[in-house]
Amino acid sequence: MSAARCPACGHVLAAEAPAPSLRCSAEAFEALGERLSRCRQERFLVVALDARNRIIARHLVAVGSLSTCVVHPREVFSPLVRRHAAAALLVHNHPSGDPQPSPEDRVLTERLADAGRLLGIPILDHLIVGREGYHSFRDAGGICS
Ligand SMILES: [Zn+2]
Repeated sequence: MSAARCPACGHVLAAEAPAPSLRCSAEAFEALGERLSRCRQERFLVVALDARNRIIARHLVAVGSLSTCVVHPREVFSPLVRRHAAAALLVHNHPSGDPQPSPEDRVLTERLADAGRLLGIPILDHLIVGREGYHSFRDAGGICS
């Protein structure tokens, strides 16, 4: 089976198998965060969801330190618009292992959640993953859509 690839970065866009509906942050972490949490470089992914919260595409938005490598809303939302996403998840890893959000992570989350509300593609959650576990902005009350 040949999966669709992002023309810019070669990242595989299509999910390999029909994905189950994601119901909570723990399921999202299991589906998306496990491999990412072992990554030595910081990576920021945007995940397109359909109306039943099933993964329809993942897109690598940025690699490198997020404090220096700014995640632009355009880079986040253009794959979501292209894939007709009903909603989205954001996921990035902390190579240090500690998933606690930085001040930059909080600002970025608010900015992207605002943009999602405007575009009608709500950001359901932003997960930060590390070897020590994960942080969910939604579970922590940092995202309300
Ligand atoms: Zn971070």
